[in-house]
Amino acid sequence: MSIKSLAPRSDFPLLAGNPKLHYLDSAATTQKPQSVLDAISGYYERDNANPHRGAYTLSAAATEAYQTARDSIARFLGASDPDTLIFTRGTTESLNLIATAWGHANVKKGDRIVVTRLEHHANFVPWQQLALAVGADFKICELSSEGELDLTHLSELVTKNTKVVAFGHVSNALGNVNPVADIVAIAHRVGALTVCDGAQSAPHLNVGFDSLGVDAYAFSGHKMLGPMGSGGLIAKRDLLEAMPPYQMGGDMISMVGDGATTWNILPHKFEAGTPNVEGAVGLAAAVAYLEKLGMDNVHAHELALGRYASECLAAVEDVTVLGPPPERRGGLVTFTLRDVHPHDLSQLLDAENIAVRAGHHCAQPLMRALGVNATTRASFYVYNESSDVDALVRAVASVRDRFAVAP
Ligand code: PMP
Repeated sequence: MSIKSLAPRSDFPLLAGNPKLHYLDSAATTQKPQSVLDAISGYYERDNANPHRGAYTLSAAATEAYQTARDSIARFLGASDPDTLIFTRGTTESLNLIATAWGHANVKKGDRIVVTRLEHHANFVPWQQLALAVGADFKICELSSEGELDLTHLSELVTKNTKVVAFGHVSNALGNVNPVADIVAIAHRVGALTVCDGAQSAPHLNVGFDSLGVDAYAFSGHKMLGPMGSGGLIAKRDLLEAMPPYQMGGDMISMVGDGATTWNILPHKFEAGTPNVEGAVGLAAAVAYLEKLGMDNVHAHELALGRYASECLAAVEDVTVLGPPPERRGGLVTFTLRDVHPHDLSQLLDAENIAVRAGHHCAQPLMRALGVNATTRASFYVYNESSDVDALVRAVASVRDRFAVAP
């Protein structure tokens, strides 16, 4: 089978400079196109000043660049109100923001917090720690025997005292694409807040925040061709307006009295201090690049590579592919090779210029439930093609022949 890359490798300086590299770790972070690098350097060459603060022309240019970036990223994610997009350092900070600011104001002793077995630590630990701090009940929705979220279990867990249901849109560890509408319906039956970790969906799907139904959605720019340290939280306006601020300082205030302070309007209330303008500008260039490719094409391309990789790897003796079937997964494949530790496997693959991720994928509660310490994960993006998969499968088969212990 031949699947051509959706985006030319020549658009990505790092890949163009490493023609032998098979980069299969885009779920961890993506490579950056030249247009993103140009947007960042162009910002510093033309527009750099501290936004929101100066009355001079250059500061206005920086403010304009920052705001224009917000508008285009909100549009890309299907949020019609750009002021409800709060720029953060990424998914982790966004989830900490809501778990801390909303959580401490709204979750009390005896309330319940529900997460899922699939969560990345970023959407697990902040809620677990909130529950411990306030004396709330912390529950985990388990997986069905098919390896998918058990919605019957979720319905049982979401009782009247449940204040929040936090879940990932797409699992970084197994690739599950979760049924957002069903989860939201279960949570909203009891008026619980829904918080969606979109780290692995914003880069790969048409998110459509306004119709997704969740109350809050977190994402990372570096996983969608943008710069590290960029990303955000999109949430419903009434939620953000009712929530206390997360960090205090410059820009987020309206009036500071000697004894009390009032808060700025959205989005500034949640963006204390000098913002990461280069991050926002770079991410806007990244979404422009993705829009040109078309998100439906991006998704179809990754699914095709994921399916091809699953089939080819499953055919290698002693390989076990984990997770739901490829048609219900995002563009990644997680697997084990009997008797070969994933860390050893990834080092052996590295010697063949194949970059994959090995480990617990920041999902230790999931690994425990699967009964494994670690897995190997190959994840695909717009610059990958079937030759990357072929190289991976050849190398895994060769490691198996050299190192797998006979029964
Ligand atoms: N959630 C998921 C599902 C992820 O894959 C990741 C990144 N591995 C994160 C959260 C954390 O993202 P970041 O490190 O960009 O904050």
